Amino acid sequence: MTHPNFAYFEGEIVPYSKAKVGVATHALNYGTGAFGGVRGYWNEDEEQLFVFRPIDHFKRLLNSGKLLRATYEHTPEDLTAITLELLRKEAYRQDCYIRPLIYKADEKIGVRLHDLKDEITIFSIPFTRYIENDENASVGFSSWQRVDDNAIPARGKITGSYINSALIKSDAMLSGFDEALVLNQNGHVSEGSAENIFMVRNGKLITPSVTENILEGITRRTIMMLAQDELGLEVQERAIDRTEVYVCDEFFMTGTAAQVTAITKIDNRPVADGKMGSITAQLKQMYDDLVRGRIEKFRYWNEPVYVREPAKS
Ligand code: PMP
Repeated sequence: MTHPNFAYFEGEIVPYSKAKVGVATHALNYGTGAFGGVRGYWNEDEEQLFVFRPIDHFKRLLNSGKLLRATYEHTPEDLTAITLELLRKEAYRQDCYIRPLIYKADEKIGVRLHDLKDEITIFSIPFTRYIENDENASVGFSSWQRVDDNAIPARGKITGSYINSALIKSDAMLSGFDEALVLNQNGHVSEGSAENIFMVRNGKLITPSVTENILEGITRRTIMMLAQDELGLEVQERAIDRTEVYVCDEFFMTGTAAQVTAITKIDNRPVADGKMGSITAQLKQMYDDLVRGRIEKFRYWNEPVYVREPAKS
């Protein structure tokens, strides 16, 4: 990975080499931060970089901040404007990933959330695929349990809680799977290490509800809307049993990084005939068109980075 050239740090855009924190920083010691993950998509025909749903990503980031008792003057609109400026400085002509991070910045000892300075930083990197074989990935159930809302709320994208995801992901990969599924305290299927999950059963699209210790994914919301409005599917949010996924017709994961990743094997059992299903394939294609600004009616979700001169008449 090449490192970023610039970062938004302590209120201004600076060369990346200047965006540094001390080793005593609270968030580094106690995991008292929260982050986001946003993508920028290059549209070759229009020679434009589109950031996907930045306002929704920044709203979620500030909500994660609320869980951490963090207060900010920035609005989602301010943070979007800063991101666009940062991307213009990077001058990308390729897909990229944007990482905003809020963190307790005091260099102080003492576990707590209150009476600490809150900072925000943003950087970006060039990015392509997160899961290589996104048309036929395999997953296994993790022996780890998803963090519970009463331990560390999964609806916040809290840095410290990503130890849970890291345990899940490494064990899955070192066991030969591409990703993992994780159960919550009730034994229901919650999500992947960094993805929401969907299954197709009897023509319905089913995904765990937001009370199943999931991150409330923006890709999840996008896919639910596409399935309902564009494919006319019934979408249900409900608890999913472990063995339901062994007998489902299609299964896929969603996330800003993972996009739409088809899962064709679960615990070494083929999902249906072991090939990407047709609903998954349609949603995957539609999502790619949407994020690159190719669907006119959803262009309000595509934030252009570069300012274009109007064509001369
Ligand atoms: N669950 C977890 C635990 C995640 O880290 C992510 C990635 N942000 C997701 C789900 C998917 O969320 P989104 O679609 O907003 O990227």
